[in-house]
Amino acid sequence: MTSIKGIVFIIIGLFVSITSYVLGKKGGTNLQIFVYVGIAFVAFGLVKMLIETAGKPKKEKRPEQRTNPASPSNQRVKYCPGCGAKMPAYAHFCFNCGMKV
Ligand SMILES: [Zn+2]
Repeated sequence: MTSIKGIVFIIIGLFVSITSYVLGKKGGTNLQIFVYVGIAFVAFGLVKMLIETAGKPKKEKRPEQRTNPASPSNQRVKYCPGCGAKMPAYAHFCFNCGMKV
């Protein structure tokens, strides 16, 4: 489900920590918590990257059951005994000549 790469977390973490650090220095406000949040993001991203590179998840468990039973070549059709017109198998009357089938 979550396809966010670890590198994204690292970039976000670096961005958050650096900007909050710079802003905290400039404004004098205490943004130190955001620096730690950013560092946590970077750490999380690193772990995520390690998992991604180390253990490639085997997501190739696709049951290849794509044998569609209603393929065009396999359609259920019948032919009118009167005129030979092709019609679906569920038809009761020929749409060409009106013969009951
Ligand atoms: Zn017919």
